[in-house]
Formats: sequence, C-alpha cells, structure tokens
Amino acid sequence: MTPVTDTIAAIATPPGRGGIGVIRVSGPAVPAMITALFGRDLPPRIATAATFHDARGETLDQGLALHFPAPRSYTGEHVLELHGHGGPAVMRALLARCLELGARLAEPGEFTRRAFLNGKLDLAQAEAVADLIDAATATAARAAARSLSGAFSREIHALVAALTELRMITEATLDFPDEDLDFLRAADAQGRLAAIRAQAAWIEARAEQGALLRDGLVVVLIGAPNVGKSSLLNQLVGDEVAIVTSIAGTTRDTVRSEIEIHGIPLSVIDTAGLRPTDDPIETLGIERTWAAIARADLVLVLVDAKAGDVGLASADAAILGQLPAKLPRIVIHNKIDLLAVAPKSELHAEAGDDHDAASSRCHVWLSAKTGAGVDLLRHEVLAVVGAHEDMEGVFLARERHLHALRDAAAHLAAAAQHLADARPPLELFAEELRAAQAALGAITGEVPADDLLGAIFSRFCIGK
Ligand code: GDP
Repeated sequence: MTPVTDTIAAIATPPGRGGIGVIRVSGPAVPAMITALFGRDLPPRIATAATFHDARGETLDQGLALHFPAPRSYTGEHVLELHGHGGPAVMRALLARCLELGARLAEPGEFTRRAFLNGKLDLAQAEAVADLIDAATATAARAAARSLSGAFSREIHALVAALTELRMITEATLDFPDEDLDFLRAADAQGRLAAIRAQAAWIEARAEQGALLRDGLVVVLIGAPNVGKSSLLNQLVGDEVAIVTSIAGTTRDTVRSEIEIHGIPLSVIDTAGLRPTDDPIETLGIERTWAAIARADLVLVLVDAKAGDVGLASADAAILGQLPAKLPRIVIHNKIDLLAVAPKSELHAEAGDDHDAASSRCHVWLSAKTGAGVDLLRHEVLAVVGAHEDMEGVFLARERHLHALRDAAAHLAAAAQHLADARPPLELFAEELRAAQAALGAITGEVPADDLLGAIFSRFCIGK
C-alpha cells in the first residue's frame, strides 16, 4: 500500500449553526501547522485554550486546540482538532486556514480509512464507525458500538485461529501421505471441523440478527379508511424512543412512518397514499412507493374485527392482489373492544393461497384504541421475519459480512463432505479450508481490495 504523505482536513461537525464546531486535520503537516497557527507547540492530548489567527495575524476565532501526535491518534498520524464556535462562516474560515497551511480537503470516510490502513481498526470495526453514526435505534447503536469495540472481529479471529490449526494439521498430513488418515484421526480433524462449523453457524445467526437491526424492515400497511391504521401506528410508536412519524417533505415520505419494535427499525408504508391520481408528482411518489414495496419484508392487512377477512375496500383488495405472493403477511382484526373479544393470535391455513403447504397465515385480534393485543402483534411481526426479541449480544452486521459468512459456511460444508469420504481427498479438503479462511478474512479486511475499500469508505460522512 502506498504510504500516505499528504495532510487532510475537514469540518467534522454537521453543517449549520451549533454551540461548537470541530475541524479535524490529519497528516505529516500537522506539527508545522501548529507552529504556524499558535507560534508554539501544543502539549499532547490536552485541550489548550487558544486563539486561531489568519495569515495576517487577525483573530478568526477562539476555542480549544488538541494535538494527538502520531501514532497515538484516531488515524495513527499526527492529528489536530480545532474546536471553535459552530457557525458556518467561522468553520469555513478555519478550514480555509488549514488548507492554506498545506492540508487538502478530506474525502468522505478518509480519516477512518487512514485509521484502517495504519492498523488502528480492522475493516469490520471501521464499518461499525459508520453504522454507529447511522444507527436508527438505540439498540442498533449499541450493537454497532459492540462491533466497534472489536467484539465481532474477535469472534472472527477466534474462528480463523481454529481453522488455521486444522489447516496446519492438514498440511502436515499432506507432507507425510503414508500416515494421512491415522494422523487426521488422531488429531480429531472431524471433531475440530464440526466445532468450527457450529461456531460459524452461531456467528452467522447473530450477524443475521445484526443485519436486521442495521437495515430494519419495510412493512406495508393496508386497510380501508377508518379501520384504524393511524391509531395502530400510534400504538406501535408507544413508549419506544427516537420515533419520527410521517417525515414531511417529498410525496414519498408522507406515506411512510418510521417506528421500532424491540430496537428493530421499521419503515411502515401506508398504502392509503397509493390511490390513483392525475398529479404527476404524486404519481412519481407512488411509483417510488411501489419500488419500496417490491423490497418489503412484511404486509400488515388491517380489517375490522366485526367484518372479518372481507373487510377490505376494493382498492385495498386490489393493492393486496398486486403484492408478491410470497410476501409474508399478518391479518390484523382491529376494534375488538367493540366486540368484547380477547386479544389473540392464530395461524390459519388460507384457502386460495399458493399451494405451498406452509402457507398458513398469522391472524392477530387487537384493539388499536385500548392497546390490547398490540404486544402480541409486535411479537408476531418479529416472529414472521425471524427476529429475536432480545438483541443483547448481537453485533451489527452488513450484507457483506453475511455474504462472507455464508461463503465460509459453504466451504466448510464441502470440507466436511470430503472428510467423510472413505479415502478423503486431502488436497481438496485443504483447499476448502483455505477458501473458508479467505472468506472470513475478508470480513476483518486481511487482504482488502482497493475497490472494496472505496465502496466502504465513500459512504462515510466527511470528517469521519
Ligand atoms: P385510519 O383511517 O385507518 O387511519 O383510522 P384511524 O386510526 O384514524 O381510526 C378511525 C376511527 O376509528 C377513529 O375514530 C378511531 O378512534 C377509531 N378506532 C381505531 N381503532 C379503534 C379500536 O381498536 N377500537 C375502537 N373502538 N375504535 C377505534
């Protein structure tokens, strides 16, 4: 990898007005920049009150300056932080001064990219930095913090270590072909491989939960006017924190509510916005909504408990008919308080469903008005998508990680098959183990390709 010789700078705090704003600088020019800015050195890692001057000695701002000399810094390079007043003009002036003194503008994620290249973080941790910043729920944030602290990476490293041992045993066997089978048997290759596969499966299961936490679920809500859709959404918002309902803005957003169930972010699309219209902008919004529905994870069909399954208006029945047949759905019978029916959930085999034997459908009876049965619905929603209610110990994972874990699992399964042979093809066995290890190594970035790094870090915010 080419050594980094230039110095980068960025405004690290979000745009707009704020109490303070932070400029971050990293690279070899930092010590000289400090001398130019302050006419003296700064004590390492201690906040120093300072006046920031422009080239002519005029005061730009007063604030705190922090110097983190290499290598004990976020990036592993010399890092300078200037904490000034958080106004856009002040921040721009301070940034311009840093550029004048030899820095260039940082690209998105470039600080973290340097931290990765300098061995401060592995790739899974670097991704966790972005996921922590982007986390939509407190649970997702905790899971990202767990990955950032290295919990996920440690699991992967332990797995790789066990795999390396098995590979060493296998390679030794390959070197002494006469003793091969006895040697492998004595070393309990089969038992070791089984343990590795069990561990990999356990990590994959938790990573899948982590991916649910990170990406959330898209839920489509269908129901006739006045059946209680808004009331149900309000109930689901309940006492959960960090909820934004119907973010104003584009037409598309007005039919979406962001809620959470046990820490999993849910984007609920209210199909009341899907009525036919002549308005071109609305039509565009509706097209986007349908695109979102194509990626939906679950449909909630709300009917009046009194009416039973037939309580859908024809427009809603039409929408329901256009949804992918395999999309899981829950039928919610609302307003049970008017019928004096107790909340319950039942699985019903559906007539007219596809011929899949497993196509029974979950029905939940509840009252959006009193809240009775809403917890039952939360439970069923998570059950239908395979999410656990307890997300403690889960690490936030990305699709990239899941892909690598599945890839590794497939190679381990192939290895197990080779080993089960009466005369195991040891070269093939060794090759599958090597491939499994390479797949796992990709998670922590043992041998990252440049384009992978580009894809990961370009999605960061500037200044991180
Ligand atoms: P939407 O048009 O589907 O969003 O329905 P709303 O949530 O606005 O509800 C329509 C009306 O039904 C309101 O007057 C609600 O108070 C009432 N409602 C909603 N859910 C219930 C329920 O579970 N029980 C009773 N009794 N009324 C409900």
